[in-house]
Amino acid sequence: MSRIVAMRTHDVRFPTSVLLDGSDAMNPDPDYSAAYVRLVTDGGEEGHGFVFTIGRGNDVQVAAIRALEPHLRGLPLDDLGEAWRRLVHDSQLRWLGPEKGVMHMAIGAVLTALWDLRAKRAGLPLWRLLSTMEPEEIVDTVDFRYLTDALTRDEAMDLLRRPGRQDRIDQLMRTGYPAYTTTPGWLGYDDAKLDRLCREAVADGFTQIKLKVGGDLEDDRRRLAIARAAVGPDFKIAVDANQRWDVPQAIEWIAALGDPHLAWIEEPTSPDDVLGHQAIRRAISIPVATGEHMTGRVMAKQFLQAQALDVLQIDATRVAGVNENIAMLLLAAKFGVRVCPHAGGVGLCEAVQHLAMFDFVAVSGTREDRYIEYVDHLHEHFVAPVVVENGNYLAPAVPGAGTEMRPESIREYEK
Ligand SMILES: [Mg+2]
Repeated sequence: MSRIVAMRTHDVRFPTSVLLDGSDAMNPDPDYSAAYVRLVTDGGEEGHGFVFTIGRGNDVQVAAIRALEPHLRGLPLDDLGEAWRRLVHDSQLRWLGPEKGVMHMAIGAVLTALWDLRAKRAGLPLWRLLSTMEPEEIVDTVDFRYLTDALTRDEAMDLLRRPGRQDRIDQLMRTGYPAYTTTPGWLGYDDAKLDRLCREAVADGFTQIKLKVGGDLEDDRRRLAIARAAVGPDFKIAVDANQRWDVPQAIEWIAALGDPHLAWIEEPTSPDDVLGHQAIRRAISIPVATGEHMTGRVMAKQFLQAQALDVLQIDATRVAGVNENIAMLLLAAKFGVRVCPHAGGVGLCEAVQHLAMFDFVAVSGTREDRYIEYVDHLHEHFVAPVVVENGNYLAPAVPGAGTEMRPESIREYEK
């Protein structure tokens, strides 16, 4: 068994703020960035991972990844549950979380790079590697500490014994996984661009779009009306407030939007406010979605226990990698809550599609009313860019976790 002999990191930043791509009520001028890590083995193989950030602070995130370097040589490449434990339970680095924030995301990047390496060695895309692992092997990668009041290892094993995996793999290969698009909805786009992009979304075969809200109520109502007119009455429109409101304000604003058929309201308030989301959910009829800033599996557990969300939006780089996202998928399945992953940014679509497809094959067993977010930019910088056709993510075939950026893009955009 080979081992990791080198870690290379890169502070990669794309100047997306120039065109206001990605602009919302809380983040008006993001420069989509990646704190990027390459792990190199003594055999010359490489595993790639990253944390998505939106510009300033990407250097802090890179430094956090570098702090893990002393662990690398000893990491067991064939036991990624053990790799998680060694990284998460560094007794000094743990103080910087514990198990949340910059250090935890850094661990996520390293773990994702290890999964990327493992999938490449197996000659499989990550979703397919995970989908062919035995239930016991999968649960061995999950840390059940703090979860057993909601989900035990045995319950997780039962969920993973769901029959019909091969059928669902075949379905994925034929039809892919549904996507919704946020491309039309950025707050910085003018009305004409909004209208044009909404019409393009329909023409491209999508069945749901998402609009950013929460800046100005009258603007929101006008933009929602433009979008509704462009997409028609039966098309799904979700809205996303990006944490903008206090709880009472969220309830009032959502009512004032005046559209009871919205697909969901996303991040209405602080991502840590479990009881606040619960109160909003009780007060409105629109489904409540959150998760892209959910710090880890313990928060996911509490949101589910408190019935504080309708849609869990896992993110590929917010938590400690593939391992913790598996835990969150298992929790959602136990509680019967649908998962619609957060994506966009840079590389998030490429990474998270593997988790959603694994969920369909081996965990929840369903794509019903589920979508992976899609935003149409920066895909060209990846070795295996996502392919979305007729509103569906096609199942990736390239071995790895989808996280490998093209070397010339790294060179061009490295800070
Ligand atoms: Mg969002």
